[in-house]
Amino acid sequence: MVAAQAPMPVSERPDAPVDLRPDSPVRPVTAHDSPVPAAPAPEKVRGLLHRLWDDYLRPHRGSMLLAFALMTVEGSTLALISWMLKPLFDVVFIGRQGGAIWWVGAAIFGIFLLRAVTLIASRALLTRVSLSVSTAMQTRLLAHILTLDSRFFRDNSPGAMIERIQGDTIAVQGVWATLLTGATRDAISLVMLFAVALSIDPVWTLGALVGAPILIMPAALVQRYIRRKVRQNRANASLRATRLDEVLHGIASIRLNRAEAAQTERFAAIVGRIRQAETKVAATSSVIPALTDIVTGIGFVAVLALGGREVMEGDRSVGDFMAFFTALALAFQPMRRLGGLAGTWQTAAASLERIYQVFDTRPSVLSGPRTAAPETTEIRLEDVWLSYDGQTVLHGLSFTAAAGQTTALVGPSGAGKSTVFNLLTRMVDPDRGRVLLGGAPVSDYDLGILRDQFSTVAQESALFDESLRDNILMGRPSASETELQAALKAAHVTDFLDETRDLDSPVGPRGSSLSGGQRQRVAIARALLRDAPVLLLDEATSALDTASERLVQDALDRLSAGRTTLVIAHRLSTIRNADKIVVLEAGRVVEEGSHDQLMAKGGSYARLVALQFGEHE
Ligand code: ADP
Repeated sequence: MVAAQAPMPVSERPDAPVDLRPDSPVRPVTAHDSPVPAAPAPEKVRGLLHRLWDDYLRPHRGSMLLAFALMTVEGSTLALISWMLKPLFDVVFIGRQGGAIWWVGAAIFGIFLLRAVTLIASRALLTRVSLSVSTAMQTRLLAHILTLDSRFFRDNSPGAMIERIQGDTIAVQGVWATLLTGATRDAISLVMLFAVALSIDPVWTLGALVGAPILIMPAALVQRYIRRKVRQNRANASLRATRLDEVLHGIASIRLNRAEAAQTERFAAIVGRIRQAETKVAATSSVIPALTDIVTGIGFVAVLALGGREVMEGDRSVGDFMAFFTALALAFQPMRRLGGLAGTWQTAAASLERIYQVFDTRPSVLSGPRTAAPETTEIRLEDVWLSYDGQTVLHGLSFTAAAGQTTALVGPSGAGKSTVFNLLTRMVDPDRGRVLLGGAPVSDYDLGILRDQFSTVAQESALFDESLRDNILMGRPSASETELQAALKAAHVTDFLDETRDLDSPVGPRGSSLSGGQRQRVAIARALLRDAPVLLLDEATSALDTASERLVQDALDRLSAGRTTLVIAHRLSTIRNADKIVVLEAGRVVEEGSHDQLMAKGGSYARLVALQFGEHE
């Protein structure tokens, strides 16, 4: 696999230091999709090309060199064909040597054959290289994105990321293919055709080029205009992917709120902008090829004016003139195509820049050095402060959850209960204060080791559109069939397997073919299999039917037995059974103790219980 051969980009090396200097090439940046991004400076584009070469292309330099050689041959064949017209006219038609028809014909056929063979070989080689590069880029982008932390995902929607992984890498691959497969061959063709032209008559050649300066000014303007439009377009493509992602995941709410028309209109507005910008890019991109037509026209007239008389007066042969004219005519298409490259190149540059923006975004949650699992699983938060975007959500939170016991976190919505889970698993790091597991700060542990200590069962644990078996084995892919069966049984998953649904049936997108209670049981089975020492449980708020509820509760009891459990509790029974209750309000602990102690105190907890469960003591 190519990805394995290529060196890792600097931004992906886990040991790479975070460099915060403003001019650093690996400065962390957030990959925002601002609607009108600033244009990249040319030196920046050159830097990106260097990185592209180092990270992706260097391993393929052998194949590229071979393809280049093949394209040189292919590119030269046009010149050879025009060259063959000289003997065709001068020897065969004018010299009337009938026998020469055969060797001239055979030579021309041979040239075409050579062209066909080199075309296939170079295309195959370059397609392999360009696909290897784009797929390696896609894989590494995803791998890199998976290392980034929650702040990145708040700033960048899933749709925008899909667009980067798919749209941008493919845009780069597109130019890549055009540049290498087309442009190299075209450039070589042009050079060779001009060599033929020059060898026939340098003055005619100059005459042919008399119109060329017309191209210079517009080329620069066109580049700049296309660059701006293309960048807008990439940003709009991200918006389009984001809209699609959100709409397709929210179909039920859109229908229930009768928002179909509004959503469709929003989408139409985005694709409308894309259509407009792309039409402008296409029209502008054709300015240079169109001007090339005019320049070539001027060239033809100039050559006719210069050479026509010389041929008529016998100073030059008809063969000379025909070979020259054919060379000029054959140069016309490659020249046009090269003129159209500005647009393609700008598209790739914009995408390349967006891809490297993601690679340059560094995770702020970095793995710690400690590779030994904690000896105990006591959880302790000491004066923890955390803010999101300047909004403080935890104000000096401190509490302890004893190892092997169940600690319930209760409090109004927004109090910071889920944030505690995120701190423990290091989805976020605190601004201040310490989060300890087994007496050591969570940031000391290797991230993998740390996360191995936790099984998390959230209200809506993510299920993937894979088989039930794969969803559960995600907890521990190496689990044996016996262990899997035991987990299935303990989590009451076996209860809903029958002849229509077995372990290998897919669960639908996000588990949509399962009921709420079934999804929870699958998540519990996954956690059971994972068998981590600490359980982080966010009890479901949505009511299940009694039978289902009983099964889920039973499964949860088995899961929490013998583990240090931190539960965001919504049911009074869970709260009552907890060894300790920690009451949070607005990011602070306001009370802690057992149910009876707290009820006796008659404070926040007693009010909460009265409010939520209508219970007084
Ligand atoms: P709880 O679980 O108690 O309902 P949370 O821990 O989810 O509360 O949230 C605590 C506060 O932090 C809330 O005000 C919430 O809006 C805010 N918050 C949580 N996550 C984020 C985030 N990713 N970005 C910004 N604010 C957040």
